[in-house]
Amino acid sequence: MSYRGRFAPSPTGHLHFGSLVAAVGSWLCARRAGGQWLLRVEDIDPPREMPGSAESILAALPGFGLIADAPALFQSKRSAAYDQAFEQLKAANQVFPCWCSRNDLAGGLHLDGQCLAPAAEDRTPAWRLHVPDLRISFDDALQGRQTQNLRSTAGDFVIRRVEGYYAYQLACVVDDAFQGITQVVRGNDLLDSTPRQIYLQQCLGLPTPDYLHLPLALDAGGRKLSKTEQAHPVDPTDPMPALRHALGFLNLPTPLAIREPAPLLAYALDRFTPKNLPHCSERPANKTL
Ligand code: GLU
Repeated sequence: MSYRGRFAPSPTGHLHFGSLVAAVGSWLCARRAGGQWLLRVEDIDPPREMPGSAESILAALPGFGLIADAPALFQSKRSAAYDQAFEQLKAANQVFPCWCSRNDLAGGLHLDGQCLAPAAEDRTPAWRLHVPDLRISFDDALQGRQTQNLRSTAGDFVIRRVEGYYAYQLACVVDDAFQGITQVVRGNDLLDSTPRQIYLQQCLGLPTPDYLHLPLALDAGGRKLSKTEQAHPVDPTDPMPALRHALGFLNLPTPLAIREPAPLLAYALDRFTPKNLPHCSERPANKTL
């Protein structure tokens, strides 16, 4: 099967340094493998979204030399596929409705395959997946062997929220399969979601892609660079500084003599091999400036 990678931003703000690193890293892996690089806009959480963000991110990428092989897939248009996956889980008795509030569950109370609150006919429930006592292991191409006890770490996690929105975990596995993704390259903040996604793939009979989690970019104070972080601006009208910075973060050379994004990416790609990516879970962004 030929390689297919993807970049899957949530439209909660403009393109920021952390997401540029994920975009560049996934692009390099796809191009190195001679495969395709696809886009997916994860717009299934309207309360967290910023109007205009999806357009702004999609419009910015080509300026960095990052050209996808197909038009972006929008998760907001995929509800029929998520409904179908949900019905499949329901028919197999793998989900249960849950009326517990956040407060009910605060303090580490664990559900054990059933909701602890009384069913409320007048309120829509969240839907949770039954999670058995199970260890999930996988080999991350950069972070190495990972093992998670799914029950104690994630518990019976939500796959459809009270508001009716599908959870990221469900939408992500349905769409990785739909887009034929063979390797997921993304930030290390999602490493601990991966066992939940692998378990969902098993429940739904979907293939499990390979995974590579890139180090997380930290700000000077050691915190995850957030989308509001001004210290590492990503300016699509002046792409070279941020592109150099992102490539440097991924241990790639960025000669000053190269002044355009596409030739700089081509130069980096010639020298890129996934095993030379930084083998760490997080890394200060400013060290690579
Ligand atoms: N939409 C997620 C984000 O922007 C990334 C999801 C993924 O790559 O699986 O953080």
